Amino acid sequence: MSAVRSKFDEIGRVLREHSRFAILSHVRPDGDALGCQIALALSLQQLGKEVRVWNEDGMLEKYSFLPRAELLNKPPAAPEDVDVAIALDTAIQNRLGTAFAAVRSAKMWINIDHHLSNPGYGDLVYVDPTAPATGQIIFDLIKNQGFPFNREIAENLFAAISTDTGSFQYPKTSARTFEIGAQLVCTGINVGRLNQQLYENYPRRRIELLRELLRTMRFASEDRVASFSLNLKTAAALQVLPEDNEGLIDHLRAIRGVIVAVFFEEMSDGKVRVSMRSKTDDIDVCVICQKFGGGGHTLAAGARVRGTLAEVEQRVLEEICDVVKSQS
Ligand code: AMP
Ligand code: MN
Ligand code: MN
Repeated sequence: MSAVRSKFDEIGRVLREHSRFAILSHVRPDGDALGCQIALALSLQQLGKEVRVWNEDGMLEKYSFLPRAELLNKPPAAPEDVDVAIALDTAIQNRLGTAFAAVRSAKMWINIDHHLSNPGYGDLVYVDPTAPATGQIIFDLIKNQGFPFNREIAENLFAAISTDTGSFQYPKTSARTFEIGAQLVCTGINVGRLNQQLYENYPRRRIELLRELLRTMRFASEDRVASFSLNLKTAAALQVLPEDNEGLIDHLRAIRGVIVAVFFEEMSDGKVRVSMRSKTDDIDVCVICQKFGGGGHTLAAGARVRGTLAEVEQRVLEEICDVVKSQS
């Protein structure tokens, strides 16, 4: 704990001693990435700091209800001067996408994350793979350093932690996560309304997308591996946004007997985005994804693999089936 505290002290000192910050997160952001960015930005703003909040994709429609969502923007085309760049929830630096180029002049980089595969880029690094969400680390940092905290920050952190833990369900959800949840609720956030905004406000096209994905569902390794895929043609026909598919892979993971779930999404750049989930620590999907140039966590990982949808499906499923077979 004291090592944690001294790392928080180091980060806290840098945050106090500088005045211009850029807070960044990964491309194709999720609730953890965006919620953490806004939460930390609000706290630093209240400390009197000048804060830019950039993500390559900008604010997603589905998270635009977050308090002060307007703070988050796409990065400018020309770099801007900042003292410190802070990467949140970003396993490797190139997952910052175009936001990286916009802060080239930063004198210092802080890397705060919970991905096991994070190599520790940057000058000041805090990576805790036991944390179920980067939001949990940001909460602890703000509290430990006595930084400003209010209900708007709490709502953003609740969204971050809730989405990355599958509503406080995934295995890394700990007593600490529930304690933090309780403290966030104590600030007066409306849990029912927030959960409705997070989980009961999907656009109809998302469910239509699920219907198409289920048509492509297939099984391998005696039904222990389940996958489905989305090609560009179907995505265009349904007019889906990239953000629409977040979480759909959980339908595969939820099947009894399935231990690895995979989602293949054809991209327009000649690559396939692969999302992977495992139900057991014995099958580390981060290691599998790293073989394809990606990364993530033991039970949830991803990669972008060059090739056609059919080629990538075959290569990746073969690799997964080899691992599953060797485990049984
Ligand atoms: P996703 O399947 O996109 O929800 O991602 C699952 C986890 O793996 C997330 O924590 C991502 O940050 C991580 N991840 C996804 N794609 C990549 C990638 N190409 N490289 C490194 N980490 C990734
Ligand atoms: Mn994330
Ligand atoms: Mn995360």
